[in-house]
Formats: sequence, structure tokens, C-alpha cells
Amino acid sequence: MKTALISGITGQDGAYLAQLLLSKGYRVVGLVRSTQNIKDIGLEYLQIRTQVRIVACDLTDLSQVITILRKYSPNEMYNLAAQSSVSLSFQQPIGTIQFNILSVLNILEAIRILNINVKFYQASSSEIFGATVLPINEESMIKPLSPYGISKAAAHLITKNYREAYGIYSCCGILFNHESYLRSNDFFVKKVILEAIKIKNGESKVLKVGNIDVKRDFGWSPKYVEAMYLMLQQQKPEEFVICSGYSISLRSIINYIFEFLDIPLDKVIIDQKLYRPTEITDIYGDSSKAKEILNWDYSITFYEVLNVLINEELNNSEDKSKGKLFPEAAKERF
Ligand code: NAP
Repeated sequence: MKTALISGITGQDGAYLAQLLLSKGYRVVGLVRSTQNIKDIGLEYLQIRTQVRIVACDLTDLSQVITILRKYSPNEMYNLAAQSSVSLSFQQPIGTIQFNILSVLNILEAIRILNINVKFYQASSSEIFGATVLPINEESMIKPLSPYGISKAAAHLITKNYREAYGIYSCCGILFNHESYLRSNDFFVKKVILEAIKIKNGESKVLKVGNIDVKRDFGWSPKYVEAMYLMLQQQKPEEFVICSGYSISLRSIINYIFEFLDIPLDKVIIDQKLYRPTEITDIYGDSSKAKEILNWDYSITFYEVLNVLINEELNNSEDKSKGKLFPEAAKERF
């Protein structure tokens, strides 16, 4: 039986990746910052909580990382733990940069010191690029525009450097935005759906948003974690861009959700205070390399994803009000 370590298992991708690896017969060990008050809602939602071993590990402490790697001697390690919000990174640049870089460095140092044969995946991001020539591919220039992007760019370069310098199987998945019901409430798409449902139910009056004329390349999380797994099944470690290949404006997303729920658009208020200090205006990628080498396929439009997200949220809010949690909603959709 293969063993996989997943840091960030309490996040959106951590839960879906754990589900995927369990279905392939892996022993899954999830790392959390503390075993007290674990936010394991995603694992509960997917009904896999009891199948995953949860272990506390402070990734900023090299000795703890060494102890964990020695104890579980994993075949694969997926590093998904990160302060993952671009907006929050402008408010907490030091914490974001410290954690997102030091955690990766410690894991790779531990692998180097222990000299173990583990395949390492780093959750890199399209935010490492900033304003650049579109579509983005693996060769695009790294030029981040936010503290989050800077932290992920450094982590990305560290991961490549440990591969080149020490021959470690370490690679980065350069993922573009991807969503699911398990997305945290403060991310754009989830926030808009939740607020729109509240407006529909008369529990809220308006939706306040920042710059909604920016465009992003959005996808479906359960399909994107398949690419992470595939990256660690190759003969040689490489970087791969994982994206839908199309960008859509935040305004179009709002329009679609409001129309779906039959809410007038005058409930949307633009608030200049919610604008970011620097912002990527448009970004989309080209995942031809992943399609060719990993055989990863993706052909879902973001409107199809939005249909699933809105319906899943509506179903769950009805079931929650009846005191019934997590029913059919976790089933695979595409
Ligand atoms: P997420 O839902 O925000 O989950 C982040 C995970 O990191 C959580 O398990 C969280 O643990 C953990 N974490 C955050 N700060 C930590 C800290 N200081 N110490 C220990 N653990 C910490 O993120 P996601 O959407 O699953 O994304 C997974 C990874 O892919 C992240 O690295 C993210 O930056 C990257 N990524 C995501 C996207 C996307 O669109 N989703 C796109 C590109 C890259 P707690 O539960 O304890 O907070």
C-alpha cells in the first residue's frame, strides 16, 4: 500500500485529493497545524474523515517535518498548506510570505537531509505570473503582483532548485482558480453565491464587491486534483499548467448567478474600498502540456461549474435548515 502525506488536508483541494487517493488504495496521512479544533468539514462532507489519519505538524519547524517524514516514510507528499487568499495577503503580507515559503523550504530540506525517495508536489499558482503575455504556459515570465503571488513564486523556484541541485523528484502544479462547494466562504465565487442566496431569502439586502471587470480562468477542483496525482506518477518531475483555457469576468459571474436566482442587478454595489492595491486584469492559461504528457482532460465550461455550485449550495442550505447535513451533494458531478 502506498502512503501519501497531504499538508492542507482541511482545505478544499486537500479533501478532494484525499478522496481521490483513498479511491486508489493509498494510506492517506493529513497534516494539520494542530489537532485541537480541526476544521475537517471537507473530509466530513466527502464522508472520508474516518479513513484519513490526521497528524499535527508545524511546517515552519524543520525538526517536526523531519520527524513526520521519518515516521511515515511516504511515497508521495502533496504540499497544499498555504495562506491561499490574494486579498488577505495584502493585509497579512509578512505572515503569508513567511509561512508559504518556509513551509516548502523545510519539507525539501527534510527530504534532502533524510535522503529519502519521496515524490514531492508543490501547489503553485497562476498568481506567480501577474501581468504577462496570454495565454500563460510553463515558460511564461514569473512576475507576481501580490504578496501571495510573491510567496508562491519563491516556493515555486525553491521546488525547482531542489530538483536541479539535489535530484529530488519535486514538481509544481501551476493551478489557475478552481472552485467547489468546499471553497472557503471568503473566496469570490462562493461569496457571491452565498450572498445571492441570502438576498433571495431576504436575509441580506445587497452584495458589495470590488473591481468586477477583472477576468480569471476558473475550473472545477475535483478535476484539478487529478492533475496533482498524475504529476507524481511520471518518470521525471516537471511543471504543468492546469487551467480551463478561458477567462471570464467577475461581472459575468455575478450576472449569471443573479439571473439564475432571479435577483435584480441593482443589488450589486461597487465598493472602492474592496479594490486591491495591485490587480491582474486578465489571465488565462494553456494546459496543452498537461493534456499531452499527463493525459489530463478538461472540457467543462465555467457556466456548467456554476450550475453545480449554485444547486449544491441551494440543496445544502435547504437540508441544513431541516437539520440534515451533507446528503447527496458530495457525489461526483462531471
Ligand atoms: P484552502 O482551502 O485555503 O486550504 C488551505 C489549507 O492550508 C488549509 O488546510 C489550511 O489549514 C492550511 N493552512 C493555511 N495556513 C496555514 C498555516 N499557517 N499553517 C498550517 N496550515 C495552514 O486552499 P485550496 O483552495 O485547497 O488550495 C490548496 C493549495 O493550492 C494552496 O496552497 C493554494 O494556495 C493553492 N492554489 C489554490 C488555487 C485555488 O483556486 N483553489 C489556485 C492555485 C493555487 P486550516 O484549515 O488550519 O486553516
